[in-house]
Amino acid sequence: MLNKILIANRGEIAVRIIRTCREMGIATVAVYSEADKDALHTKLADEAVCIGPAQSTKSYLNVKNILEAACRTGCDGIHPGFGFLSENAYFAKICEESNIKFIGPKYNIIELMGNKSNAKTLMRENSIPVIPGSNGSIKSIKEAMDIAEKIGFPVMLKAAAGGGGKGIRLVDSKAELDEAYNIVKQEAKSSFNDDEIYMEKFIENPHHVEIQILADEYGNAVHLGERDCSIQRRNQKVLEESPSPIIDNKLREEMGKVALKVVKVAKYSNAGTIEFIVDENKNFYFMEMNTRIQVEHPVTEWVTGIDIVKEQIKIASGLKLGFKQKDITFKGHSIECRINSENPDKNFMPCPGEIKDLNLPGGNGVRIDTAVYTGYKIPPVYDSMIAKIIVHADTRLEAIAKMKRALEECVIDGVDTNIDFLYKILENKKFVKGEFDTNFIKKEMKI
Ligand code: ADP
Ligand code: ADP
Ligand code: MG
Repeated sequence: MLNKILIANRGEIAVRIIRTCREMGIATVAVYSEADKDALHTKLADEAVCIGPAQSTKSYLNVKNILEAACRTGCDGIHPGFGFLSENAYFAKICEESNIKFIGPKYNIIELMGNKSNAKTLMRENSIPVIPGSNGSIKSIKEAMDIAEKIGFPVMLKAAAGGGGKGIRLVDSKAELDEAYNIVKQEAKSSFNDDEIYMEKFIENPHHVEIQILADEYGNAVHLGERDCSIQRRNQKVLEESPSPIIDNKLREEMGKVALKVVKVAKYSNAGTIEFIVDENKNFYFMEMNTRIQVEHPVTEWVTGIDIVKEQIKIASGLKLGFKQKDITFKGHSIECRINSENPDKNFMPCPGEIKDLNLPGGNGVRIDTAVYTGYKIPPVYDSMIAKIIVHADTRLEAIAKMKRALEECVIDGVDTNIDFLYKILENKKFVKGEFDTNFIKKEMKI
């Protein structure tokens, strides 16, 4: 087993990882920027090393400083969390070369899946259903036009290196293609430093359904069922749940099988997620694979009873998976709400600042993953997600009721949050009936 792990991240996910390490008897090293001197992850870890100024390019993305911290403190593993360096193949490679285990897949797999266009090509070649679109990346507007006419408008232009809902644009008609092409290319270049783009048919009124997988380094793999992440704003997830209201046992089994085929084709190891789009006729298509722990992993942990971070560490330590597919069972219903410090009335503008008063919900069936506390100052330079509330109950309706109760209890004074906005989603009749798709927020929430 790994002895000492450096957590190359901040916020709730860093805290989440430290907690499991502590339970496993593994020593932890936090890294922090000058803005995070008083952050919870900095305080909770056994040791903490400052790796640079607030700006993430100089701290949480600073490969040299992070590796130096790991070597100096004698770490034998690095957990990258999500965001930051978690999908950086170069970082994973240099960890390996420094004899520090990167807790994730091998760097060449990160590289392969990190280019979403190449990943789709590999899937297509292996008879895994993909969304119709360009075969590989698009080199010119003329090529874009030809493909769009062949597959039919509307289409989506997407950054091959994209993530976090950025670098994606819907194109309704021929007249819009020119401008959209240039915008996405620019956005791809500025956000991901890579202007490669690809095209997909726009699937109308779909669900985003993803399958969590675990694979060890000896070719054993299981899936942990699905998460429905269709409640999105600007292609970014807001609320997630497991199971999905539109997936029955048969479809779950089918999607699970395809997900495990993806694992095999990619020779994947560690935890990962295969994201699918499910259309109105319940056809499902591979969209991308996220080669890291995901924000919404707790809903899966709750319905399966498996600690995914613990499994990641065991796999990275070279252990074989301790269970088989038939051992995985699903119990009840779990929902997660992402609490952001932002103002929904001001176009969801982030709202950093000091938390003057804090009362987080609790009680039966409520889990809080957060890194904030009373008096904590949310820095303006990082992501606005400050907490996740996760609930579990026997049925979906009971889980919705429990989440509403939890949100009612929640007091976060001093900064604006999206709590009322989340509450309105949970009150919406269509949401309650399970009748929603990825357009839900745009259509139902009038924003
Ligand atoms: P999840 O499926 O885990 O919700 P997200 O796409 O929301 O994944 O990303 C999780 C976190 O990582 C978010 O903070 C998001 O902003 C960040 N992120 C994801 N991909 C990228 C990327 N390519 N570049 C920068 N940040 C990213
Ligand atoms: P990211 O890497 O930013 O997570 P994804 O490719 O996973 O980007 O897409 C993000 C979201 O955008 C999806 O969850 C879905 O809601 C929407 N989306 C992406 N591609 C399509 C498509 N071809 N048709 C309809 N919606 C799509
Ligand atoms: Mg995605």
